[in-house]
Amino acid sequence: MAGPLHCPCQGAWLAPLFVYTAPPAGETRFAPPSAPYRRTVWRCRLCGHCVSQHAMDPAALYAGAYVEATYGDEGLRRAFARIVSLPPARSDNAGRVRRLLAFAAAHFGPAAPPPTLLDVGSGLGVFVHAMRAAGWRCTALDPDPRAVRHARDVVGVAAVCGDFLQVRDLGRFDVVTFNKVLEHVADPVAMLAKSACHLQPGGFVYVEVPDADAARREGPEREEFFIEHLHVFSAASLALLAQRAGFWVRQLARLHEPSGKYTLYAFLTPEAEQETAHAGCCQSPVEPVGPRQ
Ligand SMILES: [Zn+2]
Repeated sequence: MAGPLHCPCQGAWLAPLFVYTAPPAGETRFAPPSAPYRRTVWRCRLCGHCVSQHAMDPAALYAGAYVEATYGDEGLRRAFARIVSLPPARSDNAGRVRRLLAFAAAHFGPAAPPPTLLDVGSGLGVFVHAMRAAGWRCTALDPDPRAVRHARDVVGVAAVCGDFLQVRDLGRFDVVTFNKVLEHVADPVAMLAKSACHLQPGGFVYVEVPDADAARREGPEREEFFIEHLHVFSAASLALLAQRAGFWVRQLARLHEPSGKYTLYAFLTPEAEQETAHAGCCQSPVEPVGPRQ
C-alpha cells in the first residue's frame, strides 16, 4: 500500500469514491503486467480531499519510471521543444506564467529587482524556461537526474538533484513553486512546510494541484484520478493543507486549463517568517550546479 495517506483535515471520514479493477484509458502502466490492478480512490466527506490507495511501488516511479513512461522514446528534449512551441492559448504553462508575473508585480512592487525562484519538481523545465525568459533567476530541483541534466544543459538554469524533503543547503528564494507536485508525494503538508525555510523574508509560495471536485463530476476516467496522484485536492483541502503547513492563503482559485485539466492554484505567504534554520536545511548559501557556459 502507498499509505496510510492522510487527509489534510486529519479526519477519519474517508469513503470510497471510485474503485478500479483496470487502468482508466490513458493511464500509464507502472505496475508489472502480471500484478492484478486494484486501486481505490477515497474521498473525505468533511473536506472533499481524495487519496488513492494501491500496491504500486512509489520509489520505482520516481527513480525514473515516471519520466520514462510519461515521455517514452520522445525524450525530455523533444517533449520540452514541443511544449514550449505551443501557442499561448493552448499552453497551460503560459497561463501559469501570467498568474505568477501578475501576482509578483503586485506583491513585490514595480521597482523590485528580478525575483529568485526555486521550482520544486521541475520536470520538463517549461516553467523555469519561461520565467528565466521573463528575467527571473531560476533554480530547478528534481529527484530525477535526467530532469536535472535537462534543466541545466537544455533549459540553461541552475539545477539541483534530490528529494526536496532531504536536500540541504538550498538557500533561500523570493518565490518557491510546486506545479503539479504535491499530489505525487505521500506527505504534502511536510513538503509545503519545508518551503517556508527556503523563502526570503517577504517571499511567497505558488501551488498547483488537481481539482477533485471539478473532475469527479465527470467520473473515474478523469486524469486527475490517475495512479500517479496519491492526493487529489478540493478547494477546502488545499486551504487546510496551507494552514497545516504554516501558510496564509492570499489567493485560491479553480481553473479549467487549455489541456483540459481541472486545477486548483493558490498563492501563499508564511504565517510567520522563519528567523532560524530548520534542522540545517538552509544554513548556507545556495551552491547549485550552474548552467553550462
Ligand atoms: Zn478531510
